[in-house]
Amino acid sequence: MELSQANVYVKKMFSCEWVKWIHPGSAPAETSAAKRGNVDNALLNSRHCASCLNMNGCCFEKGNCPENPLHEHCHCHYEDIGTITVRATSVIEKYTKYIFENEKNKGKKALFEAWGFSSLDSDFLKKEIERQAQIAFQCGDYILGKRNEYGQRISIVIHLKRKDTGEEIAFVTGWMSYPDGRIELNTPYGGKNERA
Ligand SMILES: [Zn+2]
Repeated sequence: MELSQANVYVKKMFSCEWVKWIHPGSAPAETSAAKRGNVDNALLNSRHCASCLNMNGCCFEKGNCPENPLHEHCHCHYEDIGTITVRATSVIEKYTKYIFENEKNKGKKALFEAWGFSSLDSDFLKKEIERQAQIAFQCGDYILGKRNEYGQRISIVIHLKRKDTGEEIAFVTGWMSYPDGRIELNTPYGGKNERA
């Protein structure tokens, strides 16, 4: 990262205003199992919309947040929360059993191997992708992706140096928003960065 870009990040990190999505009267879904529970319940009892329930407690940068209300009779609203400390998490299987899965990797294994990475780099990739995503999210540097009944997805661009040539590569990663500023990695490689 160039110094000027770093300065922009530092400034943004301390000036971002955050909002929290509130669905009154329900507990935020903290895990993927809880999100699934909301989806299943909404199918049985259509009183609440699963999408709204699964947005409950999720935080976004004020200038880059999903539209509210979501639908007719939506009771959700945003609460101003000032600044927060975000967290980006991912499970190691997204690397060991997804990117570097032997057969069902959809070309991702070959791609990462062409850049000089192997499954032995899974731990490095996990830490580095989490680290960069956390900084980018904290600065509001993310793209709102698809929203479905499980909640709001966001995309974040990650930069790595090829292990063989040292040349920089940039690609998109996909995350699901969870309450109180946590994002969890869904897609470790969602295509080349088209913004570059
Ligand atoms: Zn709603």
